[in-house]
Amino acid sequence: KAHNQLMELRGNVRVYCRLRPTTPTEECPWGILSDQRTVTATAKGQQHAFTFNHIFGSQDSQAQVFAEIAELVQSSLDGYSVCIFSYGQTGAGKTHTMTGKASEEDQGLIPRALAKILDCQQHLKWQDWTYSLELSVMEVYNDRIRDLLGSRSTEVSDINDIKHEEGGHTTVVGVSRTTITSSEQALSLISKASINRSCHSTAMNASSSRSHSILMLNITGSHSDGTTLKGALSMVDLAGSERLARSKAEGERKAETCAINQSLSSMQSVFEALAAASKPGGSANRHVPYRDSKLTYLLKPALSRGGKALMFVHVSPEEASMSESLHSLRFATKVS
Ligand code: ADP
Ligand code: MG
Repeated sequence: KAHNQLMELRGNVRVYCRLRPTTPTEECPWGILSDQRTVTATAKGQQHAFTFNHIFGSQDSQAQVFAEIAELVQSSLDGYSVCIFSYGQTGAGKTHTMTGKASEEDQGLIPRALAKILDCQQHLKWQDWTYSLELSVMEVYNDRIRDLLGSRSTEVSDINDIKHEEGGHTTVVGVSRTTITSSEQALSLISKASINRSCHSTAMNASSSRSHSILMLNITGSHSDGTTLKGALSMVDLAGSERLARSKAEGERKAETCAINQSLSSMQSVFEALAAASKPGGSANRHVPYRDSKLTYLLKPALSRGGKALMFVHVSPEEASMSESLHSLRFATKVS
């Protein structure tokens, strides 16, 4: 209950921070206070401290991270639109958190969340609920959407091809939806999507760090008494948040950098508008610029009143990343 109140106060956005473990040669300038809510560092004689809902350090396993979001994931079966973001510079651990590795111990949040949902719906059968789970996986690159599970040639560039149905389901015209029934099947779809993501980026001569990857699960629950519930779970591995050196950002690279910065900054504007609307005296009718990017428009239901959003901000421990880390942490402080 107290949890829900906190989320209301914060415009429904929770922020967790995760520090990547150091390699043997690295020395970590970051420290975590004992309340596990504040990270601190001293750089160039200046003290920095950032407070979030929780900080995960190098000792925290994938299972421990999942334990903190399991309840949020489950709420999608109760009809909520839920979105979980992975944010930070390239190499900070976004994909490790979301996808992880194949071994059971190193599995990331996506396979764990899908397994949890499949398991829960199985148990809810005893209470006369049947669920239908439809999965789409896409990539947003240069503000165009690509299907990572269907035809590779499909590219969606018209924002009006993103359809919001009543109840919080989102579909994209031309993007496939696959009904999932087992975690083995879900796992094989996830690995197909990640292979397609890297094939795409090689063909485009770009790296996957330049695109956003979005998994979207549309959930429909039907009870034997005729009641239906619609919920959704989206899990987003965002493009690297690093700012490219100006001199390198020419031509196609420049357009790409603009598109990435545009969708990350429109995400920030959406979060800021939501936070302002939920403050005392804030207007609920305030304009929220969802349509400024495909990314924010796709995730509109979860980023609206009644939706639930959670962001993981990832921090690289090495000294050389200090400036990018500060940039990421400041961004994350603004969204909550
Ligand atoms: P990003 O997706 O942000 O570019 P990655 O998730 O690919 O970063 O992480 C970079 C490297 O660090 C990978 O080899 C990954 O396995 C490793 N790594 C990241 N976070 C962790 C962690 N919490 N524990 C162990 N290894 C990690
Ligand atoms: Mg990655």
